[in-house]
Amino acid sequence: MALRIDRLATLYVADPLRRCNFIRQASIPILMYHSIADENEAGVHPYYRTSTAPSVFADQMENLHQAGFSVIGLSEAVGCFRERETTRKSVVITFDDGFRDFYSNAFPILNRYGFTATMFVPTAHIGENRLKFKGKECLTWDEVRELQKYGISFGSHTVTHPQLRDCDPHSIEEEITVSKQTIEQKLGCAIQSFAYPYAFPESDAGFKQRLRDQLRQAKYENGVCTTIGRPGPTSDPFFLNRLPVNSDDDARLFRAKLAGSYDWLAKPQYFVKMLKQRVGARGPRRA
Ligand SMILES: [Zn+2]
Repeated sequence: MALRIDRLATLYVADPLRRCNFIRQASIPILMYHSIADENEAGVHPYYRTSTAPSVFADQMENLHQAGFSVIGLSEAVGCFRERETTRKSVVITFDDGFRDFYSNAFPILNRYGFTATMFVPTAHIGENRLKFKGKECLTWDEVRELQKYGISFGSHTVTHPQLRDCDPHSIEEEITVSKQTIEQKLGCAIQSFAYPYAFPESDAGFKQRLRDQLRQAKYENGVCTTIGRPGPTSDPFFLNRLPVNSDDDARLFRAKLAGSYDWLAKPQYFVKMLKQRVGARGPRRA
């Protein structure tokens, strides 16, 4: 069994400290899901797994319901941060990559509780006919339109899902503007949200500034990334932290994450990325 240092430190160090009020921050957790399916990820460390079994997802939604969370959209969360109104017990639910199993497995459960969610789609993999991404079937535009009618929001996850930091400025502009225009044309409404694909280069301040400017120019209003934690009033609205969730999040770890006991991981995550960035700067860049 894989050693879960993140789980142990969360449940036995950070959570007790939080209960003693050593960790206090006004915030709204944003959950990050990918696939909702019974998938065998035995060869992947639980920290990196991206699938959540439908039965586990159902338990997690029941957990939110029982705990009295109100599920809000990203724009509403950013509005709360702006007004410094984070006293309500709110949560945002997001999904990346546009997989078909959102339609078949996640949506029926969300609908049972009347929960909304935001799905971020890489538009090159969403078609009028069924396309695939990472070997898995994606939503079709018909399904996207149907989900929108039931209150699901959609955001851009670029066109081709590249590591944007490795792209030139022109390609970055294409990825963020063409994807936004495509979804807007297909759905007939303004798209406000963006999700950064892959690991977010948190420690590269210059890149972040340039991307923020480009997102603003493309008329995005908010965005999320893969940096761990719960965002609050001082967070950058274009790169809001999220809490990754998968099948390995039992009820205890799930509740601890929502309460803020997983936020400590942002620091080691930042440190590892900074090291990788320095090593990468000395060696050859990835194509
Ligand atoms: Zn993705």
